[in-house]
Amino acid sequence: MTLVETENLSVTFRAQGREVRAVQDVSLTVAEGESFGLVGESGSGKSTILRAICGMAPVSAGTIRIGGKPLPTPRGPGFATRVQMVFQDPYASLHPRHTIDRTLSEPLAIHGIGGADDRVIRALQDVGLPTSFRFRYPHQLSGGQRQRVAIARALMLEPRILLLDEPTSALDASVQAEVLNLLNRLRAERGLTFLMVSHDLAVVDYMTDRVLVMKDGRAVEALSREDLAQSRMKTDYVRNLLAASADRMLEQPATGMAPA
Ligand code: ADP
Ligand code: MG
Repeated sequence: MTLVETENLSVTFRAQGREVRAVQDVSLTVAEGESFGLVGESGSGKSTILRAICGMAPVSAGTIRIGGKPLPTPRGPGFATRVQMVFQDPYASLHPRHTIDRTLSEPLAIHGIGGADDRVIRALQDVGLPTSFRFRYPHQLSGGQRQRVAIARALMLEPRILLLDEPTSALDASVQAEVLNLLNRLRAERGLTFLMVSHDLAVVDYMTDRVLVMKDGRAVEALSREDLAQSRMKTDYVRNLLAASADRMLEQPATGMAPA
C-alpha cells in the first residue's frame, strides 16, 4: 500500500520579486514500511519536498497524499501523530534553554497524552541514551547525543512516518554510522516508513530500498538498490554523485557502514 505520495508536486518561492522554482513536477510514492531516499546535489530541492509535505513550503501545483488522502492545509493536529521530521542540524533543532525532559514531554502535553514520566524514560532508552540525561540541557550533549534526542522527540507521538533531512550529515563519520544504525533498528522494530534526504549516495544506498535522484528541482532518475549495486544509472549526473560519495568514503575510511 502506498503511504506517502506526491503527484506532480511543484513548489515556487517568491522573494523580493524573484521566483525560485525549487521543485518542479515531482511524483514519488513510498510504500508502507519502505525506506525511500531522495538524493541530489545541494540546492536540488530535496529539503523543499520534505517541507512541502509538512506544510512548510508553498505548493504551487500538484497533490500530496498520506494514506491515499490529500493533506488538508493547514495540516491540522492529526498530522503530527502520523508524520514527524528530523532535521540536519541537532544544534539548531533543540531549544537551548529547555531540558531534554521538557523537549520530549512537550509533544505529549500538546496532544493531551498522559504518563509523560514513563514515556520520556522509555524514549531515552529506545535511542540508547542514559535516563540520567533527562535533566540535562542540549549544550551538555554531543552532536550525536543531540540527534538521538531529536529522533526520540520525533517518535514521542508514535508516528508511522519519519521524514529525515540529512539526519547525520552534521556528525563525525563514526557517529554518523551509529545514528544510521539506530534509525535502521527503530524502523525494523516499529515498522516505520522513512523518506530520507541526503546529498551522499552512499548514505542513501545504505539506508533505503529505492532512490529518486533530484537535479535543479526535477526528478532525473529513479533507482533501486540493485540498480545502484550494478551501476545501472542512465545519466552522468548520477554516475558523478556516486563517484563523489565513493571519494568521501575513501577520505573517511572509519565510517564503518556495513549491512545491518
Ligand atoms: P536541497 O535540500 O536539495 O539542498 P532546497 O530544497 O533546500 O535544496 O532548495 C532548493 C532551492 O530552493 C534552492 O535554490 C534554494 O535556494 C531555494 N529555497 C529553499 N528555501 C527557500 C526559501 N524559503 N525562499 C526562497 N528560496 C528558497
Ligand atoms: Mg537540504
